[in-house]
Amino acid sequence: MIKQYIFAFALLVALGGFTFTVIRIVNFFNLTRPAFPVRNWSKRFSIMLGIAFGQTRILRKPVMGPLHALVFWGFCVILFGSVEMVIDGLSGMEHSLKALGGLYNVITASGDIFALIVGIAIIVFLVRRFFLHIKRFEGIEMKAISHMDAKIALLMILYLMISLQGMNMANLGLQKLNPENASGVYPASRMLVHFFPAVSLTGMRILYEFFWWSHILMIFVFANVLPYSKHFHVFMSVPNVFLSRLEPLGKLPTMDHVTREVRHMLDPSVALAVTLPDAPVERFGIRDAEDLSWKNYLDSLACTECGRCTSVCPANLTGKRLSPRKIMMDARARMKQKGPGLVKNGRSYTDQKSLIRDLVTEEELWACTTCNACARECPISINQPILIIDMRRYLVMEEGSAPGLINTMFSNIENNGAPWQYSQDDRLLWVKDLEINNNENNILC
Ligand code: SF4
Ligand code: SF4
Repeated sequence: MIKQYIFAFALLVALGGFTFTVIRIVNFFNLTRPAFPVRNWSKRFSIMLGIAFGQTRILRKPVMGPLHALVFWGFCVILFGSVEMVIDGLSGMEHSLKALGGLYNVITASGDIFALIVGIAIIVFLVRRFFLHIKRFEGIEMKAISHMDAKIALLMILYLMISLQGMNMANLGLQKLNPENASGVYPASRMLVHFFPAVSLTGMRILYEFFWWSHILMIFVFANVLPYSKHFHVFMSVPNVFLSRLEPLGKLPTMDHVTREVRHMLDPSVALAVTLPDAPVERFGIRDAEDLSWKNYLDSLACTECGRCTSVCPANLTGKRLSPRKIMMDARARMKQKGPGLVKNGRSYTDQKSLIRDLVTEEELWACTTCNACARECPISINQPILIIDMRRYLVMEEGSAPGLINTMFSNIENNGAPWQYSQDDRLLWVKDLEINNNENNILC
């Protein structure tokens, strides 16, 4: 009974800490702006099954892709075992789900095999992090704390797998000494059990309890540490894929109020038919944390800092300062920095800083070619160019601040209806010097 009380207390503390974090994040989401209506659920489910559960984008990489995918699938399978541990802890039972019979054997066997696979994969990731110089993990945004964060999370996962395997091996030892209590199938642990110390029944029970408690307590700690680390994607990546933008990547979202103005300029009769809310526009584009849409913020929370986006960004590859990964990390960091003040004091709160300039420079924003290579590469469907474009929109529409050549282009569009410096009347002058017959010339003119 005492074990149940201790477990219930630990679970309560873990849930309390996690609830505090969830409330904090929900409060930050409440500050964000609308993005797009979430419709077409069947399409969203199929995208989630393919990209999130099928790991289709991750599997594009021949070696590390399958390893990452196996870790993800392993987590999903091992989750069943964790649920059983919580039921056991609260009820005081052992292997409470063994009533599932054959299915229980399948669950325990696959969990045991995946524990070994995930453990091996994590060791490979740690070797890469500690000993190899992987270019994708470097960049101006990758500070020492980012590397440390990744290593600590990997070490925690490694311990989770070691303790799970240790628990399974001790369980096998207990079953051997007391066959009446046999439950579950553990093929990987059976293979490794020879390395396990041969001890008495009491010793085996102590080992089992040690691994059981250290595993479940590590899960509680891990769940509370994750939201403050890059490994928050463990929770956020699946919802982020589900809620991804369904429009083609190259199609930029228009701004309703601006669209109305433009339509009005082009054709007043069409403009009259457009019904839009008349609320004044708070801000064009994004300047700071409170201007982010819920999708921008969700993207930033889901970012794994893997650097796949930056590794294909033509601006970054040609030596520009822009790194799409940094843009996402900056958005997340800014909300973390300013969010508590905004929640406490309202949207008018200012700390005399802003996302633009204090974290993201204009140079970075204007280096983007909007090629969408980053968004295409991102394994969890983050859309970096949309955030970049919205920050540019702020610069242009609120500050009238754009590089000189772009300002010239804006003037040309305004005056000539085209990006070039020629009057519309002169557009076809180049045809005059061509040797083409009169009929074709007439058609062109
Ligand atoms: S859209 Fe912009 S940030 Fe993304 S890869 Fe292209 S240039 Fe880089
Ligand atoms: S935005 Fe996507 S591709 Fe880029 S670092 Fe984050 S998760 Fe990786």
